[in-house]
Amino acid sequence: MAGGTWFTEDQREGLELSMQIKETLVSKQTPFQKLDIYDTYKYGKLLTLDDLVMTTEQDEFVYHELITHVPLFSHKNPENVLIIGGGDGGTAREIVKHPSIKTVDMVEIDEQVVRMSQQYMPFLAQELTNPKVHLFFQDGVEFVKNAASGYDVIIIDSTDPIGPGEGLLNTEFYRNCSKILNADGIIVSQAESLFNNPDWVKQIFAKMRNVFPVVQAYDGTIPTYPGALWCFAFCCKTPEPLDFFDAERFNRLNLDLKYYNKDIHRACFALPEFAKKLCNGD
Ligand code: SAM
Repeated sequence: MAGGTWFTEDQREGLELSMQIKETLVSKQTPFQKLDIYDTYKYGKLLTLDDLVMTTEQDEFVYHELITHVPLFSHKNPENVLIIGGGDGGTAREIVKHPSIKTVDMVEIDEQVVRMSQQYMPFLAQELTNPKVHLFFQDGVEFVKNAASGYDVIIIDSTDPIGPGEGLLNTEFYRNCSKILNADGIIVSQAESLFNNPDWVKQIFAKMRNVFPVVQAYDGTIPTYPGALWCFAFCCKTPEPLDFFDAERFNRLNLDLKYYNKDIHRACFALPEFAKKLCNGD
């Protein structure tokens, strides 16, 4: 809802987040969701889907660096990555910074999110034309049922578990992801707001635990997301990736980053007590 010169996100549970708008750049109903891109005074470009904040120019780096470099530097030689969702392109942009990457399969249900991001937010979508990136405009739930195995890392960069994103918070979906993930592979999923969506956080971790022997939470602060403190689920089939960080590769690559570093890699797994209980199902 863009009342006058403000966008207000109805965060449900009696909360709202508002940003003052310079200009509405696009507002359209796609076959899947309402898509808006605004230019805001405080946070630059803002993408919303069904009037929920997806990403902003000023703080997108936190989320996109956390959801990619934590698994990629936990893996000994990440080559083939699958993204479920990720339509704005920020996740793919970070993945291709790693020279070991051979393929990035990105399965985005709504082609309009990609096209509008390419048109209005090239800082996010710039690598979606990278030859290593293969776009599949289909439902991630269906894709993983039939995909060939061989992924080193799977990243679930989806919307909330409502609307098109609902099927992505689901034990069967996680089982199908596990089938196409290599034995030493890692799955990371955005796992919702620790303050505002504790029930979703609990459900995601409980369902991940039905499938993966190793499930661990990490977090980061994203000011424009509901409750700011955001959670990620890190899942693997053996404990090694949790204890591994490729310091040599991190130092050698010296990537152009604004949030992630080797200290954050460790610190993001240090959870507040309430978050430990939520994610560990205590
Ligand atoms: N960073 C944002 C967040 O944490 O809320 C999400 C980024 S991205 C915009 C989320 C993408 O997931 C959207 O482009 C949406 O179209 C896509 N998506 C939702 N459900 C999907 C599904 N079942 N299969 C594939 N993509 C899906």
